[in-house]
Amino acid sequence: KKTENQLLVIFGASGDLTARKLVPALYNLYVEGHLPDNFVVLGASRSNLTDNQFRDRIVYNSNYLKERLAKKSKEHVDNFAKLFFYQDLGDSYDSFYGKLAKRIADLDQKYRTDGNQIYYLSTPPQLYETIAARLAEQNLNLQFEGWRRLLIEKPFGTSLETAKDLNVGLQNYFEEPQIFRIDHYLGKETVQNLLVTRFANSIFEPLWNRNYVHHVEITNAESVGVEKRGGYYDKSGALRDMFQNHLLQIVSLVVMEPPIGDAPEEIRNEKVKALKSLRIMKDDKTLFDHTIRAQYMSSTIDGKKVNGYREEDGVDPDSKTETYAAIKFFVDNWRWRDVPFYVRTAKRMPTKVTEVVIHFKKPHHQIFQDEQMGEKANKLVIRIQPNEGILVKFGVKVPGQGFKVERANLDFYYSDLVETHVMEAYERLLLDAMQGDATLYARADEVEAAWEFVDPILQYWNTGKDVRMYGYSAGVWGPENADDLIEGVGFWRNPGDN
Ligand code: NAP
Repeated sequence: KKTENQLLVIFGASGDLTARKLVPALYNLYVEGHLPDNFVVLGASRSNLTDNQFRDRIVYNSNYLKERLAKKSKEHVDNFAKLFFYQDLGDSYDSFYGKLAKRIADLDQKYRTDGNQIYYLSTPPQLYETIAARLAEQNLNLQFEGWRRLLIEKPFGTSLETAKDLNVGLQNYFEEPQIFRIDHYLGKETVQNLLVTRFANSIFEPLWNRNYVHHVEITNAESVGVEKRGGYYDKSGALRDMFQNHLLQIVSLVVMEPPIGDAPEEIRNEKVKALKSLRIMKDDKTLFDHTIRAQYMSSTIDGKKVNGYREEDGVDPDSKTETYAAIKFFVDNWRWRDVPFYVRTAKRMPTKVTEVVIHFKKPHHQIFQDEQMGEKANKLVIRIQPNEGILVKFGVKVPGQGFKVERANLDFYYSDLVETHVMEAYERLLLDAMQGDATLYARADEVEAAWEFVDPILQYWNTGKDVRMYGYSAGVWGPENADDLIEGVGFWRNPGDN
């Protein structure tokens, strides 16, 4: 696809995300020759920086580029640094837009970026609407000569109501097709590979339904705690921070029907339909039985004491924010009726891993008498991180007398594709936005459909009767009570078991 000449404006350019993710992603695009001939980046935030100070910060003195730039020529590094400019916005994000518009126009003219602009909002979310409104006052939302796109980072609201308000707030100034809501999980190869595995093969899709699938399990585990993000996390929690966005995006790709083609809207329509088919939990009994929340407690890992969640910096000592969430739910449609889905996400787990496991049913009629046959039912494991890949688990005969069945694996790992550069999530997603491809970006109705499902759980956790907050030690797979959720159906898979 062609990437048209353009100017990228990053708001909040003095922040962590710009230095840690966006500039390194742009550097990769630069090295791989994906940037258009005429391309510049204008950083904007309140910090008072000159162009050169900005370049020092994000290129020359960047810890995130240090290794990659170490062996490069000065000319190579200078040419990359010269793509960046900076404009300060005074003491708020509410003024100075006349000056900003003038700077954009000057850069556009000088570097011939054809009036095409992306505004990347890498600021706290409470500024999104203000920035959109101020851009619109300067007509920077209008697409007369070139195109204009607005790109925002999660969170997209903190509840259904605030998500709707944000959508309406942005749509007052930008048309929906101009708005790109980034979910970096969708930039990961294996997440996209879910679509290819399902719809480019004829061996999986016929089995991808209630007739053959016993249950679906999705795990997202981090080994770290909240680190320095305690203040932010305490207002968010596992359900808002991971489940509402990243995990439900993955769920939508597992659940969706085949789209009629690969056009962005065709795929996004099917994802919305999938999210709308999740059975919303309405009554307290279902919410009690199907949801588990917990917090990590102070404990010892490798002889070293680690803080409990409530002792972390920035966290309320009486906090009711979950660092572990496990949800069981059903999907009300023809394909998935009565198949239970189990999704869990947590911090301070034994390892860092994200994977989707499709547990298939046992053969209808078992010929071989093998007590452990149940555990050996076929599984398809889609490993999203780390060691991205796909594993198929199936039974083979143990050599020798009789018919003892053992489990074998058919494995594919992306790391085996040594010849291929696997793009990082931000690199892929930025390039897509630069090319106007919104397939991997969340649409307004998609975000709202995800909130429709999550809102009742949050409300129940905040106000419901008999809601419990369990505790778990660092380095274990969550509270024991989470086993009750899946009891009778199976066991949580230990993602370390290959
Ligand atoms: P950040 O470093 O906290 O903020 C980015 C910039 O916004 C800051 O450099 C600051 O620039 C400005 N800013 C911060 N607090 C402000 C305030 N109260 N009022 C006005 N301006 C303020 O954030 P970030 O980590 O770069 O993340 C940017 C956005 O991406 C956020 O919306 C975040 O939720 C989202 N996000 C980040 C990550 C991540 O990994 N970092 C992951 C997912 C989503 P000036 O003071 O110079 O104006």
